[in-house]
Amino acid sequence: MYNLKVVIIGAGIGGLTAGIALRQAGYEVEIYDRVKELRPAGAGISLWSNGVKVLNRLGLGEKMAAIGGLMDRMQYLTLKGDVLSDIDLHPLVEEVGQRPYPVARTDLQQMLLEAYPGEVKLEHKCIAVEQDENSVTAIFENGHRTTGDLLIAADGVRSLLRTYVLGQEVQPNYGHYVNWNGLVPASEDLAAKNSWVIFVGEHKRASMMPVAGDRFYFFFDVPLPKGTVSSPENYRAELTEHFQGWAQPVQNLIQRFDPYKTNRLEIHDVGPIDRMVRGRVALLGDAAHATCPDLGQGGCQAMEDGLVLTQYLLTTNISMEYALKRYEADRKERTSAVVEKARKRAEMIHGKEPEITQKWYQQLAQEEPADVRGAIAKVILAGPLR
Ligand code: FAD
Repeated sequence: MYNLKVVIIGAGIGGLTAGIALRQAGYEVEIYDRVKELRPAGAGISLWSNGVKVLNRLGLGEKMAAIGGLMDRMQYLTLKGDVLSDIDLHPLVEEVGQRPYPVARTDLQQMLLEAYPGEVKLEHKCIAVEQDENSVTAIFENGHRTTGDLLIAADGVRSLLRTYVLGQEVQPNYGHYVNWNGLVPASEDLAAKNSWVIFVGEHKRASMMPVAGDRFYFFFDVPLPKGTVSSPENYRAELTEHFQGWAQPVQNLIQRFDPYKTNRLEIHDVGPIDRMVRGRVALLGDAAHATCPDLGQGGCQAMEDGLVLTQYLLTTNISMEYALKRYEADRKERTSAVVEKARKRAEMIHGKEPEITQKWYQQLAQEEPADVRGAIAKVILAGPLR
């Protein structure tokens, strides 16, 4: 397909990656976001090799490597700090052909914004879409309207346009745990600077991984009922209580993080949903398949969506509708599998059935590193770029 004008709603990881891919393919693109200032939700993200490969394909590999942390090992530890498993990640990189990169979200967003050869139109909240057989129009709260050939709804986990595409509202599912995340200066009394460490116990996790700038991206997970409220002045006390008796590096982290630069959120996912496309409107990223972060794949899937959609548009001259059908079939299969796998893993990690979580702790100590790498490689290699 050629000479398309594509309107993208949402300038998160998904919308921006799609915008870059579509512009590189020669399409006209407009990106809109409702916010006044783009600020990423969350401090860090680990981009597994399938996500990094999308960025490589878009010519951003070198820039990604410059902002990514070097993660050579992955270690699981008990809450007391005893090593359960210590996995060398080099064979995984050999197998899949690309390093994973943990990265600060502001660095990633900056890189994507610089790579997008246009301007994101801020303070444009999309409130409705209209379409006929020739075009689609986005309607904004401020009265602006824009018409294109295709509209990509990359408007996140609480997507308004998902309701339009599905014809009914689908509420996100609560993952039954709360996540705190932020950045701290890297230091050996927290973790080795080339390792991803994950302390596990009592259905909770405390974790750190390296990002550029000699920092660790950290997170804590605690299963809690929906609706617990807190504020930054309480975060340290909350975490001190939840992680009482845990190993010294966890205590050091709790003393060191800046609560005012830390996020606290309830984890949700979405789907699998029945469709991703309605006429000229295509859902992309979390709008279609928000994913529990327990596989580190939600953002990677959003990136894959943008590339795959662009490829289907580029490689057919049948019709745009035909390209969108293929996009939908391809991405529904891939992302449904990831959403379900991540949800299952979230339940296992966070004690939905305590005996299963107990078994997992035992299994961590017995598992062969090759099996752990194999399971990660399987998810990566099921992506579009092998
Ligand atoms: P978003 O980033 O949510 O962007 C949506 C955008 O749409 C926003 O900018 C919003 O302002 C805009 N918008 C919404 N509504 C409208 C509207 N009506 N009009 C205009 N604009 C609108 N993924 C990984 O790959 N690896 C990880 O390690 C990882 N860790 C995670 C950790 C946590 C704690 C969480 C919560 C998620 C994690 N993820 C991870 C998932 C990843 O963050 C998401 O999948 C990804 O950010 C989704 O990007 P998106 O562009 O689809 O949505």
